[in-house]
Amino acid sequence: MKLRVLGCDGGRGQGYYSTGLLLDDTVLIDAGTILSALTVEEALKITDIFLTHSHLDHICELPYLLDATFDMRREPLRIHAQKETIDVLMKHIFNWVVWPDFSKLPTPERGQFTIHEIKPGKAYQAGGLNLTPIEVNHTIPTVGYKIADKQASIVFTGDTGPTKRIWDVANESADLKAVIVDLSFAIKEQYVANVSKHMTADDLANELKKLNVDCDVYAFHYKVGQATTVGAQAQRVMHFGRPVMHLREHETLYF
Ligand SMILES: [Zn+2]
Ligand SMILES: [Zn+2]
Repeated sequence: MKLRVLGCDGGRGQGYYSTGLLLDDTVLIDAGTILSALTVEEALKITDIFLTHSHLDHICELPYLLDATFDMRREPLRIHAQKETIDVLMKHIFNWVVWPDFSKLPTPERGQFTIHEIKPGKAYQAGGLNLTPIEVNHTIPTVGYKIADKQASIVFTGDTGPTKRIWDVANESADLKAVIVDLSFAIKEQYVANVSKHMTADDLANELKKLNVDCDVYAFHYKVGQATTVGAQAQRVMHFGRPVMHLREHETLYF
């Protein structure tokens, strides 16, 4: 499995890109970064986008992608999300006020995307991968994903505070190679982390006690204004004797 990190920060700024994880060149998890990192030709290879939730940093480049490629795409882009996420996208983004409804453009018959509702716990196939959404603990309905091919599986928590189900799923995965986990705030902002349902390094250390598998751990979603502090605190969190690693923008990982 090839994972190209288009963006992995908890916001946007110069040199900071929000969440977009490209799997095997065709399946994208979250749409926080697309054309800021990919050429149009590369972006046209994406067939499926699986969203974790509707927060802006996870959907913000989807409208621009559809706008840039509306006359180039032969097959509609398949967007997979929970019902609550779909409702937000259609009511607040693709509503002809904030942005056109590209599911009906360039003509109603040749819409540029189709919507596919997903439910936590069910498995979905796309691009040779098996994706299972798993409910996590965030301020709005949110899922993480277990992503598997024939050789390996990885778990991506998406945005979450302390949670349980996704660790059970990770522990049941015999071929688990890595987890990518929310780490958003510096330890001194524990209150903000609690109310926004994200994690500090202290939370992450507690969460990793629930993970019984010796695998790599990558932290993502550092808040832009605190990224240096959060990154330093991440490296003091250990899993099976090795420090937590940063997920890095523009790197490609193989599992
Ligand atoms: Zn986020
Ligand atoms: Zn969020």
